[in-house]
Amino acid sequence: MLTDRQPRVSIAHLPTPLEFLPRLTAHLGGPQLWVKRDDETGLATGGNKTRKLEFLVAEALAQGADTLITCGAAQSNHARQTAAAAARFGLACTLVLRGEPPPQAQGNLLLDTLLGAEIAWAGNAPRMERMEQAAEELRARGRRPYIVPYGGSNPVGICGYVAAMEELLAQAAQAGLRFDHIVFATSSGGTQAGLALAARVRGYEGRILGISVDLPAEPLRRRVAELANATADHLGLPLSFAPDDFSVEDGYLGGGYGVIGDLEREAIRLVARTEGLLLDPVYTGRAFGGLIDLIRRGAFSPRERVLFWHTGGVAGLFARPTLE
Ligand SMILES: *Cc1c(COP(=O)(O)O)cnc(C)c1O
Repeated sequence: MLTDRQPRVSIAHLPTPLEFLPRLTAHLGGPQLWVKRDDETGLATGGNKTRKLEFLVAEALAQGADTLITCGAAQSNHARQTAAAAARFGLACTLVLRGEPPPQAQGNLLLDTLLGAEIAWAGNAPRMERMEQAAEELRARGRRPYIVPYGGSNPVGICGYVAAMEELLAQAAQAGLRFDHIVFATSSGGTQAGLALAARVRGYEGRILGISVDLPAEPLRRRVAELANATADHLGLPLSFAPDDFSVEDGYLGGGYGVIGDLEREAIRLVARTEGLLLDPVYTGRAFGGLIDLIRRGAFSPRERVLFWHTGGVAGLFARPTLE
């Protein structure tokens, strides 16, 4: 494995299952739809950040940290998984969350508090500055904070998705399967950078398509290329990536980050009712909604095999009383 020499703790339930979606495939008339269940990584309702945290927490422990600090939206899945990882290793956790405290803590925010995280509400302040400030305050009290980057997306965290792609390719080889497309929700870009890096090294020839949940394609592709290059450096691999090496679809941004529309509602209901599989309103609902739309527009042939990489987020479903 490309990441064998990187310090890592074991938190995630791996390998995550790889499953066929027969009823949804039939309902849509193809392509052959499969799902990689990273909603089942096992850490306090799971999700993709758990894989990144295996490497980030190892670095924090090696540095003698006693507190993890990270940031995100009020319903951040990344913040919730970081709080759970901290609890698992006896570390304290400070979460710098955007906006103001809501009247009631629900969904991920409820879990953050159950997991013992301290919440610092940041309003609209720039997140990096606010995290540095939280770290400064902790150091002044004699503590040793470790800042987990936004989305867990730096070269250390991205190792989680380098390893994940190798895991998938091994599962697919064992099952005698080849996936023509891998589709998933992309935001901070770390998942895409890791998948693409391992795909390049291992010769995966299918398309890796990130469906953006918040950023336009151009800046996101640039960001993913930077992250992939930095991760290649980190792993000592002589690889170079350009923005054009990455496929990003930004046609499904709707009303913006976290604003649920008909696309998300329809996808969440359809996948739940045909397969008993839950999607979240912010990331996987939007990405699967985009995938369904692409299927209806004929973007795939019925015989092609498409893998939806489920990145988690289901706790976000419980942040609202209704999907309307
Ligand atoms: C963070 C997150 C993503 C996006 O992953 P990135 O590596 O930040 O691009 C997708 N889905 C869910 C549920 C997430 O929490």
